[in-house]
Amino acid sequence: MIVEEMKTEKITIASLQSALKNYSGQTRWNEVMAPYTSLKVGGPADVMLLPKSIEEVSSLMQIISKHQFPYFVLGNGSNLLIKDGGIEGIVIHLKYLHQVRFVDQNHIYVEAGLPYPKLAIYAMEQGLTGLEFAAGIPGTVGGAIVMNAGIPDFETAAHLESITIIRESSGQQETIPAKEHLFSYRRSELPKGIIVSGIFSLMASSKKSIELTMKTYLKKRQDTQPLSFSNCGSVFKNPENHHAGALIESAGLKGLQIGGAQISERHGNFVINRDAASAADFLALIQKMKSAIFDSKGIPLECEVKIIGRD
Ligand SMILES: Cc1cc2nc3c(=O)[nH]c(=O)nc-3n(C[C@H](O)[C@H](O)[C@H](O)COP(=O)(O)OP(=O)(O)OC[C@H]3O[C@@H](n4cnc5c(N)ncnc54)[C@H](O)[C@@H]3O)c2cc1C
Repeated sequence: MIVEEMKTEKITIASLQSALKNYSGQTRWNEVMAPYTSLKVGGPADVMLLPKSIEEVSSLMQIISKHQFPYFVLGNGSNLLIKDGGIEGIVIHLKYLHQVRFVDQNHIYVEAGLPYPKLAIYAMEQGLTGLEFAAGIPGTVGGAIVMNAGIPDFETAAHLESITIIRESSGQQETIPAKEHLFSYRRSELPKGIIVSGIFSLMASSKKSIELTMKTYLKKRQDTQPLSFSNCGSVFKNPENHHAGALIESAGLKGLQIGGAQISERHGNFVINRDAASAADFLALIQKMKSAIFDSKGIPLECEVKIIGRD
């Protein structure tokens, strides 16, 4: 799968500053990550870089590879639990890579930093069906590809034709076909690097019916998810033949709170930032949920949320 924290070599701020002295894009030193995540926790990244073009991502990757710096690609932070110690090395935020265009009758080209719901709406406006499920997934296109984001019966990989990646090994762009074997449930096995764009293949349909389906999905979320609190979507993947939320609910864990982090009363597989929680609060709560389900039901829960950063 796409790399998260690439290398473990110790680096210093001075070595980063020296290597990045000719980098012309936006640079934010010691940038606190909490505001960039939907859970609203996470300490500072040594440096956050916001490239404005694919070419800039490529030159950045060449610097990273040359110096073997650890790096992390940030999408919309909607599937992340970043620890209180923050992130060592470089965080690359792709929010300026947000172009989207119609390629032909059935294909849309989109850059990785575009919010996934915006892509869903764009497809709807073109009268193309397939991405209605994405309207309520608050990530970016890049994050959705890496996570193979979806809902029961619909997932990102099903509509993806190709992916363009800046390869970690070369710093060069490579476009690969989005073959089925590269993706599984909330998982991808892509070459190491930074996804910069993708081409989605969709089917023609009526705008009205696409819009109606989208609204139905959005309504279901509003009815079942604790959307008025900061959260990270599903904390755990559903174990085979089980629903993580139902397991947590039947273990009587809903409402359990550690520090400012709480298991949602609304949905057992959501944790919410109830009251100025720290990442440590969430980590303790998640550990408690795992142990309780394993001890009472013998089922190991696997995190869907990605836990990253230093303690
Ligand atoms: C309210 C709520 C509802 C949600 N509902 C759903 C749902 O229905 N279905 C679902 O699947 N998920 C859901 N999620 C989880 C989340 O939105 C998805 O996993 C989403 O795809 C994450 O995208 P992101 O851009 O936020 O990625 P991030 O959380 O920023 O990152 C996730 C991973 O992707 C990597 N990454 C991101 N962009 C790139 C890139 N360009 N190149 C390489 N690596 C990259 C990151 O390094 C990290 O490893 C929900 C979350 C919330 C808060």
